[in-house]
Amino acid sequence: MTATYQNYINGEWVASHTGQVFASTNPAQTAEVLGYFQKSDGADARSAIEAAASAFDTWSKTPAPVRGEFLFSLIQLLEKQKEDLAVTITREVGKTLREARGEVNKTITSMKQLAGEATRLTGQTVPSFDERVIGYTVREPIGVFAIIAPWNFPLGIGLWKIVPAIIAGNTVVFKPASNTSLISVKLVELLIEAGVPAGVVNLVTGPGSVIGDELANNPLIKGISFTGSSEVGLALGQAVGARGGKIQAEMGGKNPAIILADADIDLAIDCIVTSGFFDNGQRCTGTSRVLVVPEVAEQVKAKLIERAKSMKIGNGFDPESSNGPVVDEHQLNLYLHYVQKGIEDGGVLECGGKRLVDGDLANGYFVAPTVFTGVTQEMTIAKEEIFGPVIAVTDVESFEHAMEIANQVEFGLSSTIFTNDLQKAFHFVKGIQSGVTHVNMPSTHFESQFPFGGKKISGLGPREQGESALDFYVETKTVYIRA
Ligand code: NAD
Repeated sequence: MTATYQNYINGEWVASHTGQVFASTNPAQTAEVLGYFQKSDGADARSAIEAAASAFDTWSKTPAPVRGEFLFSLIQLLEKQKEDLAVTITREVGKTLREARGEVNKTITSMKQLAGEATRLTGQTVPSFDERVIGYTVREPIGVFAIIAPWNFPLGIGLWKIVPAIIAGNTVVFKPASNTSLISVKLVELLIEAGVPAGVVNLVTGPGSVIGDELANNPLIKGISFTGSSEVGLALGQAVGARGGKIQAEMGGKNPAIILADADIDLAIDCIVTSGFFDNGQRCTGTSRVLVVPEVAEQVKAKLIERAKSMKIGNGFDPESSNGPVVDEHQLNLYLHYVQKGIEDGGVLECGGKRLVDGDLANGYFVAPTVFTGVTQEMTIAKEEIFGPVIAVTDVESFEHAMEIANQVEFGLSSTIFTNDLQKAFHFVKGIQSGVTHVNMPSTHFESQFPFGGKKISGLGPREQGESALDFYVETKTVYIRA
């Protein structure tokens, strides 16, 4: 019997008052239902917000080091349940078990980075011009935050937003992506087991636009930390900003990789395959554009196409698979739509570009890694985020030309360059319009002790992770005392 899971509000698992549920399915076997989840609406979101608002009073007054205690248990629980969590991620998102284990490990590292942060929730003492005045700052919690997460890193992104929010003394309403409801329920179960008190974390599952509308407009929500598409993030930013709330939005990318003539080409190809094709390109920092100078263009294209063709696509549990299915029918259709656009706009489809339906693959949303060459800047596939395994190769005349094209998109999340010329690498780092950048590395490389976030329409508000992880969730109070 497939289980039905409930919302978690004020320390209790409760059904939505809509009486409706939706299914989360396995994208490798779409007939397999993993669970049924509450199809909540604005009224359910309101109950969760009110529960979080009541819990805020006690939680915000709990000393910060005490608030942070649960995190040590959480890390132990994550370690203990590592494999089960990875298996759930593979079943629900489709990514390979290797990638899913990677996500769980990264999540644990990120939680270790946050452990002890509650004891370091420090302010500053600042010298005054007046000898009788002592001046200092304190960082205070704000209230109820909405946490809206995407499906591509359902464990990692959920936790690295919720945990800093609550150790800073806030309470949260968590709205995960519908197609990763099962892993999100497990995430909340872990927080409960780790000792997070009732009302501090509340979970509401269901359609983003309906629940999101309540989260964006309810005055009890003091801020929203969102990760997802730029379209939704920018709209949320407007709605929340208009009523004086805070927004932190980590959004889409159209991340370039520049390859110069002196590059180690095999290294470049390895990094581009890793960041552009693995996980089906469903990473915000994935490489989706390759900009290559004439001296090495033919070599790069030939090697990239060969690697794309040699990737084995299959169930994520098969250790031979380089990629599992894309997450759902919507992503499948987006992929097919952009392939079609690429062809119509005059790009050269070198390989891939189709759904895979041989044998068992017909039961899921499997697609072929795709390379387009001859891509020019006006083409849709050079400008819009695809979020699928599609790499667009553009011939550029020079390093300067590559820089110009790299910056000619609305997005500014991640980027990378392949060169051994230190001067050009520095020019790139300085001139590239992206929040995260790399030299001779995959554009997806990420470590949780560094701040993370995008520029332009890829990011709004303070950075996540690293030393800035708590910044979004606190307000500074400046204190002057005359002795
Ligand atoms: P999405 O914007 O469709 O959904 C993200 C979340 O927002 C989901 O929980 C969804 O239910 C919810 N949502 C949808 N409509 C809403 C609305 N009107 N109001 C409030 N919430 C709403 O994105 P997605 O398809 O889940 O994820 C893919 C996108 O996420 C890509 O654009 C990708 O680049 C981006 N992403 C960015 C980062 C980053 O850190 N920059 C990381 C991962 C994914």
